[in-house]
Amino acid sequence: MPIYEYVTLDEGCDYCAASFEIFQAINDEALETCPCCDEPVRKLLSGFMVGKGDPLRPSNLDSKGFTQYKRMGKGYYEKTAGPGPNAIADGDS
Ligand SMILES: [Zn+2]
Repeated sequence: MPIYEYVTLDEGCDYCAASFEIFQAINDEALETCPCCDEPVRKLLSGFMVGKGDPLRPSNLDSKGFTQYKRMGKGYYEKTAGPGPNAIADGDS
């Protein structure tokens, strides 16, 4: 299932102000409001999370200055390419 990323259009709450990711089926309607605070949200493009013959290999991403992360667990992402930090963890899990 693809991951969609959303961010609030307004002030939002802690959850949506920093953007959040959600698994949705391709045919699901896009979220219009934050599930936490009901502020309007918009969908961000996160195309290269959606596999299937994706030409964006880590080496390509790196050379273009992108940083790619792979989700390793709940709230924890490990870098697979790019100049960013080696790992990011969100929240205080
Ligand atoms: Zn919110």
